[in-house]
Amino acid sequence: MKSAVSTPLDKIAKPLLKWFRARARSLPWRDDPRPYYVWVSEIMLQQTRVTAVLPYFSRFIAALPDVRALAAVDDDALMKLWEGLGYYSRARNLKKAAALITEQYGGKIPRDFDSLLSLPGVGRYTAGAIASIAYGQRIPAVDGNVLRVVSRLTASPDDILRDATKRSMENALAEIMPKDAGQFNQAMMELGALVCLPRAAHCEECPLASLCRAHAEGLENELPVKTAKKERRIETRTVLLIEQHGKFAIAKRPKRGLLAALWEFPNLSGEKKRGEILALCKNAGLSPKSVRRMKAARHIFTHIEWQLTGWHIRLSDDAEQVGEARSAYGNSPLPPLTWATSRELSETYSIPTAFKAYMP
Ligand code: SF4
Repeated sequence: MKSAVSTPLDKIAKPLLKWFRARARSLPWRDDPRPYYVWVSEIMLQQTRVTAVLPYFSRFIAALPDVRALAAVDDDALMKLWEGLGYYSRARNLKKAAALITEQYGGKIPRDFDSLLSLPGVGRYTAGAIASIAYGQRIPAVDGNVLRVVSRLTASPDDILRDATKRSMENALAEIMPKDAGQFNQAMMELGALVCLPRAAHCEECPLASLCRAHAEGLENELPVKTAKKERRIETRTVLLIEQHGKFAIAKRPKRGLLAALWEFPNLSGEKKRGEILALCKNAGLSPKSVRRMKAARHIFTHIEWQLTGWHIRLSDDAEQVGEARSAYGNSPLPPLTWATSRELSETYSIPTAFKAYMP
């Protein structure tokens, strides 16, 4: 079936590939596009920029060089390798998929699109990227960058957040996909990342300028059409940095939901005042030597924004350390606590970036 996109995309492959060969950035997963590297890098690159991913990728590959090593990694070690990248479910899905690949495919990442798509954390874009870049198959890989480029090239009035638009653009690209599909897909992404930028298209340096409808019609910065996103929910929270005997209290988050199973500093819903903090300490059986307000911080997730205030609570070193035995404190408002030195906080436990402002 012919796609609904009507512009002659069929002319873009040649100039685009020529530009890509001259301009492509050297990246470890590009210089050595083995399936495992392509897969791990594509998962890291979801929601994260190339420059931020580079050191994480090298560290990850050094620690977990193949699918079997990833399938066998301890959860805390995995979270430590991912610490700071955010969207931790990506790492958990990588491990789940690695276990499945080990069991069902003998540790070899499958080639076929549908098998790739059935792996945890792998959507149409990632499956297309692995199939084309690592295995040379003529399958499009359409991410946000590519949707923007196609929308502009074709001056499409369609909303790129709609699935129907994504499918239609995917079909249009499948029809014109050249033999070196992996290079073509990467070139489209690269053009979107370096030239056809979201806020300002650099048409003067674009190899496709003479073919681009948005450029011809002066619409480059009006496109693509996107429906307004839902506003983020704002949550205020109060973070407690509780210190005693040179150690700091941390607690493990629930196994499900936001930042699942990661470590955090104890924190409470709402912005608490000094009196409330003192009352909480009393209820929890803690005797603070000092309670000091810390700076405010903010962390933005996809759908939620945390507005944080913090309190540094120093407990008397004479008192016994509050252990994991929460029952010792009756109905304590605090979760079971684990104590860690500042070195352990940075080297052993994975504390999400959301709490970084309160790291001792
Ligand atoms: S000519 Fe401009 S708008 Fe068109 S693809 Fe190139 S950079 Fe994007």
